[in-house]
Amino acid sequence: MKKVSLLLLIILCTVFLSGCINTNKEPKDMLSRIKFRNKITIGIKKDSKPFGFIKDGELQGFDVDVARNITKRLLGDESLIEFVNVTADSRISDLNSGKVDMIIATMSINAKRADIIDFTSPYFIAGQALMIPDNSKLNSIENLNTRKVGIILGSTGEKTIRLLAPNAMVIGKRNYDDVFQLLKEKKVDAILADDTILYGFIMDNKGYKILPARYTRECYAVAIRQGEENKELKEELNKIINYMQQSGKLNRIKEKWIPNLQKTE
Ligand code: GLU
Repeated sequence: MKKVSLLLLIILCTVFLSGCINTNKEPKDMLSRIKFRNKITIGIKKDSKPFGFIKDGELQGFDVDVARNITKRLLGDESLIEFVNVTADSRISDLNSGKVDMIIATMSINAKRADIIDFTSPYFIAGQALMIPDNSKLNSIENLNTRKVGIILGSTGEKTIRLLAPNAMVIGKRNYDDVFQLLKEKKVDAILADDTILYGFIMDNKGYKILPARYTRECYAVAIRQGEENKELKEELNKIINYMQQSGKLNRIKEKWIPNLQKTE
């Protein structure tokens, strides 16, 4: 009798303990995990006005609004985000190391990146352009072959300049403010970057212009990790992006942050 009660007790404890362990265990599937935690960690930039930047001590911009809308639709409350600052150069490792659940940071889809991370459908299309001082005589990317150009390390601009002006002297920096500083100090003749981000500098600084040519098509998308665990998250994010497109939400965000992009050319 004593033995039976002891056995029963052991069985009960095992069931209870495994129950406890299971309740605390995060699901494998990313979408369920985010819902289980009731929190999303999103990698965002703070050097890329008007997409991600700090104003009056607050993180704001196009990507910040996209992140908030996505969080609202995933968790019912846009305040359940933890923003983590990323740079163009750190984005992929921050994502693949698990530091963030997703990246919403002016990140373009490209084949090389798609080998190691996954992308949703695009939520915005930009193009690379050159920014120069107003009084510069430079009028094409080929002119840069004998000059200096600033780019952001880890950005798609790096490849473009090597392709279109292979003899240019390229100076790379980790963030946009440092690249702009090079232009201000005349240490480079131009900056090659996405027109959207260059536009952010034009907004705040007189004496510079963006040349009319666009050298690439940059499709900004949400980046997530590869693998089966992220399949449902990707499907859900694509539904949300599609909804934001159809409902006019993305257009309203665009109007709010980049209403005059064409007028800067
Ligand atoms: N969209 C480009 C990229 O993904 C440049 C912008 C950026 O630096 O994030 O590389």
